[in-house]
Amino acid sequence: MKNLILIAAPAAGKGTLSEILVKKYNYAHISTGDLLREVSQDESELGKKVTNMLKNGELVTDEIVFELLEKKLETINGPYILDGFPRTLNQAYKYDELVVKLKKELGMVVVLNTPYETLKKRIVGRVLCKDCGSIYNTLTGVNMPKQEGICDKCGGFLYKRSDDNEESFKTRYETYMKKTKPLIEYYEKKGNLYYIDSSDTTTMLREIEDFL
Ligand code: ADP
Repeated sequence: MKNLILIAAPAAGKGTLSEILVKKYNYAHISTGDLLREVSQDESELGKKVTNMLKNGELVTDEIVFELLEKKLETINGPYILDGFPRTLNQAYKYDELVVKLKKELGMVVVLNTPYETLKKRIVGRVLCKDCGSIYNTLTGVNMPKQEGICDKCGGFLYKRSDDNEESFKTRYETYMKKTKPLIEYYEKKGNLYYIDSSDTTTMLREIEDFL
């Protein structure tokens, strides 16, 4: 299995797709958003700084992101999925160097395409399980939890991410268009770019499996 980089607007399905591929193909899942949310729980200065950046939907500095990422990559031996990284051209350049340093493979880059209105509903209605991380939605009609506020899979409590509101979605979407979309051209030139339709889970999985 090749390493995967997922490029997608907020709520385009990176988390959901990763969850499926981890179960089915034993990929390790590295989400820089998850790594940052973990750090933001710390009482430290760094924790507070990260918390603020996340709340406003701003990108966290490369220095912080790379430190967390490199530490995580060092613990991984098999194939992995990068979810939410790289997010800027500068991160992509630096990641090319990190891959060489850590003797990893760049692998395949997959772009997930979903219409804007679907993304907004997914964000505003998204809830997650505190215990197992499963993702649900209370607005789209897809993946609605059977009992309000409770995870179908493990019975854990469901919560909303502090950045999953309309205001922050707009900032995150604009940041995606301005800073992350240019990565598509960068990887296209390298010849390792693939597109999938991520407007629903079945299509998304079928299309990615054609490439894997
Ligand atoms: P989403 O893709 O839905 O915005 P993520 O969990 O990937 O969710 O990211 C949440 C937030 O974490 C981002 O809005 C940003 O503030 C921060 N973040 C995640 N990955 C990166 C990264 N590679 N570089 C800088 N900031 C990041």
